[in-house]
Amino acid sequence: MNYRHAYHAGNFADVLKHAVLQRMLVLMQRKEAPIAYLDSHAGVGLYDLHGVEAGKTGEWHSGIGRLPAQSNSPLLADYLAQVAALNSEGERRYYPGSPELARRVLREYDSLQLCEKHPQDFALLKDNMRHDERVICHQRDGWQIGKALLPTEEKRALLLIDPPFEAEDEFSQAVNTLQEAIGRMRQVVVAIWYPIKAEKQLKGFYQALANSGAPKLLRAELWVRPADNAASLNGSGLAIVNPPWPLEEELRTGLPELLKLLDQGGGGYRLDWLIEEPVLAPTPGA
Ligand code: SAM
Repeated sequence: MNYRHAYHAGNFADVLKHAVLQRMLVLMQRKEAPIAYLDSHAGVGLYDLHGVEAGKTGEWHSGIGRLPAQSNSPLLADYLAQVAALNSEGERRYYPGSPELARRVLREYDSLQLCEKHPQDFALLKDNMRHDERVICHQRDGWQIGKALLPTEEKRALLLIDPPFEAEDEFSQAVNTLQEAIGRMRQVVVAIWYPIKAEKQLKGFYQALANSGAPKLLRAELWVRPADNAASLNGSGLAIVNPPWPLEEELRTGLPELLKLLDQGGGGYRLDWLIEEPVLAPTPGA
């Protein structure tokens, strides 16, 4: 386990993932019923963009560093407000990872369960979450999250699957975990984050998602450079099962807005259904 997210926090891929995550959690709160948030690969929760690791790569400059302090876009407004709330005015120093973002958005009666395997990152995560009684941190293999934690007591849940993709089999592990999750809780909202290097490398993954048996599955992608170079991270995507309404409509306007802010030349986006919601045939005589 070499991957440490502190080197990459706030990069353009984090921006897409976290803006959409934030939005999904807000939209799910249109109903009052409690929500369980589950994170299979949680990281440390909170990042210092002025720290040694972030300074070594400088990746955040072409991510959150390019975004304005605020925006009217539904996709970006609340996300940017959360980032701003962590920092003094005009400063971009602290950046919320998925656990911190979820913690800030969720209500008093919602719950969070976070898995992180790396011993050092787990200790940091636990420390960062220590004041919040709604949060349970597990030092365990995130690939077991479906078996271990689903179904949740809450009828509504969002599972983020966000592995480091250091190994080739993580694509199939992500699909297996998704299948395990919907097998145990059909209505669960699941988001798999994935890297886009060369688009053609993803064919098998798309196929597996399309055959996963999910009730419906939305694909949202954004690349900041042409997606044709297997050696570099050019973009990222989210495969979202059971997306809350009206996420699709918001992404239709939000993705082009985000692209304008993040494009490095030759970027693009895509939004389509890999599994469409079945259209119910009209009842005869109705
Ligand atoms: N979700 C985080 C966020 O958005 O802020 C970032 C997560 S980072 C991409 C992936 C994390 O997964 C790393 O912190 C790594 O230590 C952890 N990890 C790697 N393999 C794991 C496994 N099998 N189970 C749980 N965590 C794992």
